[in-house]
Amino acid sequence: MADTSYPRCARCPVKSCENQGGKPGEPPSLEKIPAFCPMKLLPDVYELAMAEYDKPEVKEFARLASLQEFQCYERLPEGLRTKLPRVEELIQFARKCGFKRLGIAHCGGLAYEAGLLTDVLEKNGFEVVSVMCKTGAVPKERIGLGANEKIAGPDAWETMCNPIVQAMIINRSNVDLAVMLGLCIGHDTLFIRYCKVPLTVLAVKDRVMGHNPLAALYLGQTYYSRLRNKIE
Ligand code: SF4
Repeated sequence: MADTSYPRCARCPVKSCENQGGKPGEPPSLEKIPAFCPMKLLPDVYELAMAEYDKPEVKEFARLASLQEFQCYERLPEGLRTKLPRVEELIQFARKCGFKRLGIAHCGGLAYEAGLLTDVLEKNGFEVVSVMCKTGAVPKERIGLGANEKIAGPDAWETMCNPIVQAMIINRSNVDLAVMLGLCIGHDTLFIRYCKVPLTVLAVKDRVMGHNPLAALYLGQTYYSRLRNKIE
């Protein structure tokens, strides 16, 4: 029997909150929500969250985000169609918010992409600060890595990724919005922890899947069927 003591939306068969199976134009019926539904387990949290949206600055940010979501679709005679790649969404959303200066935190492995993104953003009138993960040139030994834990080999100099300094530099650079571009797992966690300005993600790193980690899941019935087994 599935554990019902914590929220498990990913296992929900009804998705009632989204009005799946409900009548268009009518509020969703919540009669069939499962025992693990957060609306059942943590009802007080919803009031707390809605009170946050009542703060004018938060409400306006949320409104603009949902307006951007709306503008990513077009309603054609043949049905609803998507129309914007995320990079265009980023530009439109930043403009809506009145942002002028953006700060890219990127991986050394995506320096080429950081240049492309800078070109696009600058052409669209933004000032673009960028900080690469290797900035500071601190050796990996400084955080305790051993000779045999360096990618280029035991005798190589290898600069550590430094997401904390990336965040601190972005924080000091008067940017309106930080944009993460391809930071590694864990390094991104540290960057998010230390970044004090509004933050969005253009891309996450996936060295094998062209920075699209979902591709491995989509191929999980075929070429990546090993994902159905426990990963060692
Ligand atoms: S909130 Fe409740 S109804 Fe909505 S997806 Fe999660 S479990 Fe299902």
